[in-house]
Amino acid sequence: MNSSLTKIYWDTKLPIYKLSHSKLSERGITSLLIDVDGTLLSRNSNIIPVKVKNWIIRSKEIFDLYLISNNPSEKRISKIGKELGIRYKCKALKPRIKNTLEVINNLNKDKNNIAIVGDRIFTDIIVGNRCKIKTILIQRLNKKGLPLKFNTTLFIEKFISLFLF
Ligand SMILES: [Mg+2]
Repeated sequence: MNSSLTKIYWDTKLPIYKLSHSKLSERGITSLLIDVDGTLLSRNSNIIPVKVKNWIIRSKEIFDLYLISNNPSEKRISKIGKELGIRYKCKALKPRIKNTLEVINNLNKDKNNIAIVGDRIFTDIIVGNRCKIKTILIQRLNKKGLPLKFNTTLFIEKFISLFLF
């Protein structure tokens, strides 16, 4: 592997609900593939935070959205997808590219205009780079829907990235 696989196009250091729609548009982004667990809500919660819901409602007016989750639970991801009114794919097996590429190809847009938004480097960012779309890293949400101040997983992933890739 080489370092371009873990390269983060935009390391926002913000929770998804603080991502600026105009800044996304300025970067030419028209479609967003959105990770679910940790990104929209904690994987230990079934409640989508109000701030996230409002951000999604606004985003839907501007962007083409698609949920792309590694979670194997069709029940969980379909419930979230239906609640937000967004198409979804579960068992995506990121960072393997097959399922993500399928979604990208269905969007039928230029790859320059597509970004993946997620909370992990080793799944979301790597699959995005492998599929040659833009990669956006956001802060993971906790059970209360608040951004984690210190994300151990991300710290370890960034640390390993320095040495392995
Ligand atoms: Mg995640």
